[in-house]
Amino acid sequence: MKQTIQPYQYYFIKREVDQLLNAYSSVNDPKTVQTVQALAAEKIHAMLETEIPEIEAFLTAVLDVKLKKEKAERLLEELKEIVLPFEQPSKIQIEKLFRKVKKLKQPDWKEFDLREHTYIGWNDPGSQKKFLVYYEDEQLKGISGTLSPTITKGICAICQKTSNVSLFLSTTKSGSEGTYTKKGNYICHDSQQCNHQLVKLAPFYEFAERVKRER
Ligand SMILES: [Zn+2]
Repeated sequence: MKQTIQPYQYYFIKREVDQLLNAYSSVNDPKTVQTVQALAAEKIHAMLETEIPEIEAFLTAVLDVKLKKEKAERLLEELKEIVLPFEQPSKIQIEKLFRKVKKLKQPDWKEFDLREHTYIGWNDPGSQKKFLVYYEDEQLKGISGTLSPTITKGICAICQKTSNVSLFLSTTKSGSEGTYTKKGNYICHDSQQCNHQLVKLAPFYEFAERVKRER
């Protein structure tokens, strides 16, 4: 099967399916359910910008008012077949991204289902650091900073969901005096969870740009 959708698009579709299931179980008015269905299909088509046969078959199955959670989960698992996995970089590529980091902790690739990742993020609790790698114009990029061990409820700057977030600080070189200040963004403590909530690319790249400017 051809892999044609990105992980964030997969999670966009999954979010729509959750909303459909919610409507099927809680809305009695058939007209309202039909509206929810039409809207879900429209949003998915608009997001994908192109017609994909596997998606059409998937939509036919999930636009059935008798759809239950178990079947939806199975259909979503099957849909993963067409998701383009995150391309795993080599150890050396990662080292090159974080040259200045002493005793760099490499990500544990066994932990990741690469079809679930728009970016790869991992924590080094020992040094209280978070590392992020992602592709921009097919180029591998990296971001690192300190991650507070304190977790609070808040909106994540990357996935923009209310989530378990921690303050992520990147070091800023401010002006000509060469003094360093720190600027922070609240982001999901758990990057795996963040990827599961990431349904749009723009906020991720805006975050990356901001952090790069701040460095
Ligand atoms: Zn997040």
